[in-house]
Amino acid sequence: MLWAVSLCILWASFTLGVPVNRGRQKLLLISFDGFRWDYDHDVDTPNLDQMAIDGVKAHYVTPPYITVTSPTHFTLLTGRYVENHGVIHNMWFNTTTMEKKSYYQTQFVNEWWDNGTLPIWITAQRQGLKAGSLHFPGTASSYQGQVAMMREVEPTRYNYKNETAWYENTDKVMDWFRDQDLDFVSMYFGEPDGTGHRYGPDSPERREMVKQVDRTVGYIRNSTENHGLTKQLNIIITADHGMTSIYRGAQLEEITLSKIPGFNFQDVSFHLLDYGPSGMLLPKPGKLETVYNALKGAHPHLHVYKKEEMPEHLHFSNNDRIPPIILWTDPGYVLNGVLQFNKGEHGFDNQEMDMKPFFRAVGPAFHKNLEVGPFETVNIYPLMCHILGIQPELSDGHLSATQHMLVTSADGEFSCLCFIIQLSRLLFTSGGLQYSNYTVLVTFLMGFKLV
Ligand SMILES: [Zn+2]
Repeated sequence: MLWAVSLCILWASFTLGVPVNRGRQKLLLISFDGFRWDYDHDVDTPNLDQMAIDGVKAHYVTPPYITVTSPTHFTLLTGRYVENHGVIHNMWFNTTTMEKKSYYQTQFVNEWWDNGTLPIWITAQRQGLKAGSLHFPGTASSYQGQVAMMREVEPTRYNYKNETAWYENTDKVMDWFRDQDLDFVSMYFGEPDGTGHRYGPDSPERREMVKQVDRTVGYIRNSTENHGLTKQLNIIITADHGMTSIYRGAQLEEITLSKIPGFNFQDVSFHLLDYGPSGMLLPKPGKLETVYNALKGAHPHLHVYKKEEMPEHLHFSNNDRIPPIILWTDPGYVLNGVLQFNKGEHGFDNQEMDMKPFFRAVGPAFHKNLEVGPFETVNIYPLMCHILGIQPELSDGHLSATQHMLVTSADGEFSCLCFIIQLSRLLFTSGGLQYSNYTVLVTFLMGFKLV
């Protein structure tokens, strides 16, 4: 009986929340802008393939709506849908002054970002960790007066395609982890988005850029090893949204607002149009119904909604910054296409498969060679907080959606119990353990459905 008791004590010591990986774990979140979930299907990607073998791969992930860069990246950092974190567009705008700022300029508009939701850098730092960010959207802003401890914002007119710079930035981030002992870093690469826009997602140029991404993934993993970080550092690689081809040609019935009967720009006091498939309108006082009725049903590939009637799955309604009328097109179409020349676009409904990004993860926290089903990117935030051991802020994500990717303490318990049983059997067969004690032990373990 003594044997059973001592083994039970040993078992208990393995079940009191002892993590399977000792020591604090680090985490690197990487975004390759516009990397669609299936971009590795028509290109050889040996490094991404190896990462899937060494870690976890999701079939795809679903970004929040609106599927453009800053809103979706801020969801990765906060776990909140766009209507809840308030960064509702790449462009800051003021409906009174009509002023708009570009994507890059908007990075420096503090009040656009700092409007009540804290990104993970700040939460981690408030709980005693060290955080950094390189080029990730939102890095330039402060949040309640605080910024990421180490941060780098790309200069204006930055060349997002320079592979040498990608490697240098990788080494810089690994130095932060090793020399500054950072716990969390977010890192952003502006491709293959730019190439997908310019040449289209089905182009040879996009495939070449995916090879560059793959080489960089190999470089990132080598750099992790060279910096002695492999046992500590978890790496999540994902993206903000996908990309779809835009239809062109004389046969195409373009969606041109000025040609829609009954629609008059005189009835609108502010508009944000020509941004791929999406548009937002503020009608003049008393003109809401006129504008809405003119546009609703005007084109078979144009969706028109009052903000309070938006489809629930888009979570793009409950925010004062969202203007009263929202427009978007079906894949293949853009708003006012005569003014837009990209061959690839995003910004469409997040249920469209072409809008889905990829997801890979590797490191001590993750299972190996595991492929999981799709999940929403709001769920990456609670996963990251869990790995870092910090208390998350209020979020729209759930750890339960991603927890199955993690090596848990239960896995540790299981392997420990297997060891105990093997040891017991050995002792029993060698005569060192009486049969009665052996059966007591096995009955006890069966009570926990573990043998
Ligand atoms: Zn883009």
